[in-house]
Amino acid sequence: MASKLQAVRGMNDLLPATTPAWRHAEQRLQAVLERHGYQEIRLPLVEPTELFARTIGEVTDIVEKEMYTFLDRNGDSLTLRPEGTAGVVRAGIEHGLFQGQLLRLWYQGPMFRHERPQRGRYRQFHQIGAECFGSAEPELDAGLIAMTAQCWHELGLPSLRLEINSLGSRQARGAYRDRLQEYFRGNRAALDEDSLRRLESNPLRILDSKNPDLAALIAAAPSLPEHLDDDSRAHFERLCVLLDQLGVAYTINPRLVRGLDYYGRTVFEWVSDALGAKGTVCAGGRYDTLVEQLGGRPTPAIGFALGLERLLDLMAVNGLEPPAPLGVWYLASTPGACRAQALVLAQQLRAQSNAPTVLMDHAGGNFGKQLQRADKAGAEIALILGEDELAAGTVTVRLLRATQATQETVSINDLQATIARLITAQESFAV
Ligand code: ATP
Ligand code: MG
Repeated sequence: MASKLQAVRGMNDLLPATTPAWRHAEQRLQAVLERHGYQEIRLPLVEPTELFARTIGEVTDIVEKEMYTFLDRNGDSLTLRPEGTAGVVRAGIEHGLFQGQLLRLWYQGPMFRHERPQRGRYRQFHQIGAECFGSAEPELDAGLIAMTAQCWHELGLPSLRLEINSLGSRQARGAYRDRLQEYFRGNRAALDEDSLRRLESNPLRILDSKNPDLAALIAAAPSLPEHLDDDSRAHFERLCVLLDQLGVAYTINPRLVRGLDYYGRTVFEWVSDALGAKGTVCAGGRYDTLVEQLGGRPTPAIGFALGLERLLDLMAVNGLEPPAPLGVWYLASTPGACRAQALVLAQQLRAQSNAPTVLMDHAGGNFGKQLQRADKAGAEIALILGEDELAAGTVTVRLLRATQATQETVSINDLQATIARLITAQESFAV
């Protein structure tokens, strides 16, 4: 027997039962971004491998072991995008978008990382992200973080915790790196395999380890804020003041470093305790040198990405449902001429932009059977077209959710007005 075809491990189908919640979240988030002046950018899912190696950094989880990289038929090395920022910067340079003025962009879509699949961690997952280019002032950081806070508010999500830190300048990170290396070398025996590898190449990354056995060692490690350069310290202190003024609560986590190389100065994460170990829903930071590093003019920038799977999980945990869809009207008819008339009527009703979902019964059987199916389809109104109705140019309208059975036979021309009247009557009855 042929083996069953299945989706690639860690890549999920989003079935109709879940897509309303996704669309609800996406639409609300997009509305918040647009209100803040962010414009959408859509980019390829595949980029030259070199783009990610040069931006995210060679010695990072993503580039070392998570990328979907392949040679295409020309022998070019390509990679399924593991994140969005690198592509946005690549496109911005390529199309001359960085002209000195402020540029606000958002994107959305699937990202790909070859990780071990588990709750909150998939191989194809989805992010909505935003990037703001063109200013180094902390007001930009504060505004962007406040925008993410507004996203949770818009969705009705409580209890996300904001953690912030500053990574300082490149030089400050260099000095800190040496201190940290010294510290971890002294504790070499306690390190795991990943951390031993990072000890020489990128000791900061050890702070980002998810291994609980290392938690105590990491907690006792030298702390980054003590090594901050004066400018970065002032920048960070100003950010804290601004967040206070905005009423955005935060905690400073001196060991927050983020898993990508391009960050400097501000980094932040929004964390939930309701999602188990995979609690980071949204993460971001400053990357003031990345545009220049990829060949563009110097352009300070800050951005974030939020993971939609984790966000949707959190909404479900909090019992947040998408709003009920528009009503459903169900057309029951006798096969033949009546059904043809029903088909025409359905098309006329659907031609209106504010129409509800209009469903035709195609399975047949008597009206009793058809109305059972109407009920199953969640219809609130059944429109019945039998021989009598056809002959008289009428339709029978039946309210399926009314506490009292309500049914009227009316001229096709009066149909819309009748439905409106019946629904209003039903609502006032319910009150
Ligand atoms: P983590 O620490 O959980 O590995 P990360 O630092 O790799 O996350 P980022 O690259 O900053 O994550 O991505 C931003 C957000 O995207 C994360 O906070 C998370 O919500 C989501 N995300 C990242 N990787 C995955 C994944 N494999 N599956 C589902 N969501 C993910
Ligand atoms: Mg990761």
